[in-house]
Amino acid sequence: MKAALYYCNDDVRVVDVPVPEIGPGEVLVEMKACGICGSDVLEWYRKPRAPMHFGHELTGVIKQVGKGVNNFQVGDRVFVHHHVPCFVCHYCQRGSYTMCPTYHGTHLDPGGFAEFVRVPAINVERGMLKLPPEISFEEGTLIEPVSCCLRGLKKSEMREGDTVLVIGAGASGLIHVQLAKLLGVGMVIVSDLIDNKLTIAREFGADYTVNPQKEDIEKKLRQINEGRLADLVVVTPASTAAIKQGIYLADKGATVYIFGPTSPEEAFSLVPHHLFFSEIKLMASYSSYIAETKVALDYIKRKKINSAKLITHRFSLDEIGKAMKLVAKAQESLKVVIVRD
Ligand SMILES: [Zn+2]
Ligand SMILES: [Zn+2]
Repeated sequence: MKAALYYCNDDVRVVDVPVPEIGPGEVLVEMKACGICGSDVLEWYRKPRAPMHFGHELTGVIKQVGKGVNNFQVGDRVFVHHHVPCFVCHYCQRGSYTMCPTYHGTHLDPGGFAEFVRVPAINVERGMLKLPPEISFEEGTLIEPVSCCLRGLKKSEMREGDTVLVIGAGASGLIHVQLAKLLGVGMVIVSDLIDNKLTIAREFGADYTVNPQKEDIEKKLRQINEGRLADLVVVTPASTAAIKQGIYLADKGATVYIFGPTSPEEAFSLVPHHLFFSEIKLMASYSSYIAETKVALDYIKRKKINSAKLITHRFSLDEIGKAMKLVAKAQESLKVVIVRD
């Protein structure tokens, strides 16, 4: 069968590998769609482990079930989560499911960008969901990205009426905008350097948009927000400059929520005086688990997430190299999905 193998953003090969064999409790899923995540084009994250199979925003149809699988059958349309927690370790007991060692040790075989995928028993039990008929395979690839944003917003403890600034109007920025509105915050402001994306952000429910190359964000925020800055700043780009900017756009008592992962080498200086006297909280959120994927699935099913507008490009598995270059450029594309007939 065909499977994608990552070397670097400019070199993703489609190679021939054996169809994985399944064991007890496992299932074999025929991939129907798999989204390309922002993290798939983070070279500092992927390259040290290359060449590697990858892809984790997966939907498909069950082709085989192993002994002992009772909840799923051949022919079921499913979403599969690549990482699942143990639910018993110290981190799980504290609710930090994505910090669980089991979570980090679980994977799909060989990865979502393959014709067939072996889903280990633990993922079948704790990470697989049936897709209702209302959700297409393509839409189902949004379950994982939406669940990650949902987890972060919940962790940020935002409140009704909060003024939320979302930095970055890529797919994850736009998902945060829709979720924030859905969860009942007040004003949502979005900043991005690309005007087209700001137009889309308004269609997704943003009340105001700012292009920092043309307007001073701080001034604009104070102007529209009774002189105050944001109660919650969501930093979606994997950039220290954006995080730093976020800290200075956070109001007194506000939270700065880091969504995009930067490389281990990148650093910036902080002024603790400012954090202390403004009581600014810094937090980060990594990935998601089944409690959030279930809610994300429900939101997508009820059309609370604008899937049609989020998915801008579709490519076949053979064209994955082209698709990755498009995502790495981060210009006109939002969500790019690999699809199969
Ligand atoms: Zn993802
Ligand atoms: Zn655990």
